[in-house]
Amino acid sequence: MTVTSLIDRYGRRIEYLRLSVTDRCDLRCAYCIPEGFKGFEEPAHWLTFDEVERLLAVFARLGLKRVRLTGGEPLLRRHVDDLARRIAALPGIEDVSLSTNATQLAKMAQKLKDAGVTRLNVSLDSLRPETVARINGRPVLDEVLAGLQAASVVGFAPIKINMVVMRDNVDEVDDMVAFCMDKGYVLRLIELMPMGDTARRMGYVDLQPIRQRLQAHFDLVDTVLPGGGPARYLGTSDGRFTVGFITPLSQHFCATCNRVRLTVDGQLHLCLGQEDRVDFRSLLRSGTSDEELAAAIGRAMALKPERHDFNEQPEKLIRFMNMTGG
Ligand code: SAM
Repeated sequence: MTVTSLIDRYGRRIEYLRLSVTDRCDLRCAYCIPEGFKGFEEPAHWLTFDEVERLLAVFARLGLKRVRLTGGEPLLRRHVDDLARRIAALPGIEDVSLSTNATQLAKMAQKLKDAGVTRLNVSLDSLRPETVARINGRPVLDEVLAGLQAASVVGFAPIKINMVVMRDNVDEVDDMVAFCMDKGYVLRLIELMPMGDTARRMGYVDLQPIRQRLQAHFDLVDTVLPGGGPARYLGTSDGRFTVGFITPLSQHFCATCNRVRLTVDGQLHLCLGQEDRVDFRSLLRSGTSDEELAAAIGRAMALKPERHDFNEQPEKLIRFMNMTGG
């Protein structure tokens, strides 16, 4: 096989792939999938586990090191733990993680642990049942808390909580800090991205003032956590509490972007905020050799855009987050 390393034309080394295993979800987060959304991908187009394993094996030979399973809600894809196990076993892959809304986590936590999933990110936008119902589209707070508890019991640590901050929950940041301190979770505050018009209506909140306030109040210092993602972390000096900030709008991190995204139907997206992509499903289903797949991956890297335009053209992207994989 021709070994081209995964370096794009801006010198960024791509070591991280976010793999969407389904575009379906049991929630309807108002900023993600709009209520009544009908554009789900046909099952016949979903990459099979064999296809995913084959493509990621080629990627791993070229330098891919980390894979995060995501969606839609990844725990809705049947036997997703088997897929995680197969990916974790690929030579070169050092880390398999998963992002989940945790509604199914209580019954899946042990299976994921056994399959070799190393790290979990759990979405939780509010600790108030009625706010969860309103923002996330269903009253699932109890299931999510039970899922988090199960994940701790089977030994996932640290568990990261992803909170998208918006008009409706900005007054809950301090409660979420207290909750995560108490439970030993890492909190990650995320700026709302303008993906589709529903997200644009939710009320963007700039995280920089919140960052400054938390830093002063808790005497936080810069901290580094493993994971390879875009969050910048602050922590207490005793290491008891860490909070990350994912700020694609107020302070974008495109210059250090190390990731690409593969959708459930095999489209490789080079940037969350742009349309550049390569159709790997067609390649996988038309007798393409591993050698040719490797060459196509190399060509795809050259298409990776320099940056997103969320600030300059917030109305540009009509693709919803569940379609690309969050
Ligand atoms: N269902 C899984 C979950 O809840 O983590 C994985 C997919 S979800 C799309 C991944 C993450 O993307 C979640 O933390 C979600 O809150 C976030 N997300 C979705 N739409 C977003 C938006 N418009 N802006 C910022 N974050 C968004």
